[in-house]
Amino acid sequence: MSKQIYMQLFKLPQIAPYELGGFLGKREVICKFQLDFNTQQEKGSYNPNHLLFYKTISVWRKNGIQFCGIMHTHTENQNGISKEDEKFITAIMNENKRIFDDMLHFPIVIPQKEIIMFSAFWEKGHVKIKQSEIKLV
Ligand SMILES: [Zn+2]
Repeated sequence: MSKQIYMQLFKLPQIAPYELGGFLGKREVICKFQLDFNTQQEKGSYNPNHLLFYKTISVWRKNGIQFCGIMHTHTENQNGISKEDEKFITAIMNENKRIFDDMLHFPIVIPQKEIIMFSAFWEKGHVKIKQSEIKLV
């Protein structure tokens, strides 16, 4: 992940109890971030705005940027993947099975505190989610 993107995520505002989300793109490393907006935000869960999502990834594709994941914020003391997150990650993985890399990244951002990286991949027909390290470039 580029340092610039890391700082952009880290500095997001705390708007608890609502979750904020956004899309991530990469060349060699994660180097693009599009904040999601007009999304239906409910307490304790994040649902991407599909129209903005498809628009963003098609513009990126024309510029040689590949979609590689979705981030969302949590409030403090929620530094893990929730059941709702698992459902959402599995849905995204299924939706994008044929279009993208096998592995996608789903960082959880606790604004101004920390970023915890989770990566999802396919294993024997199931979606696996593992915590991973963030390498800054
Ligand atoms: Zn969550």
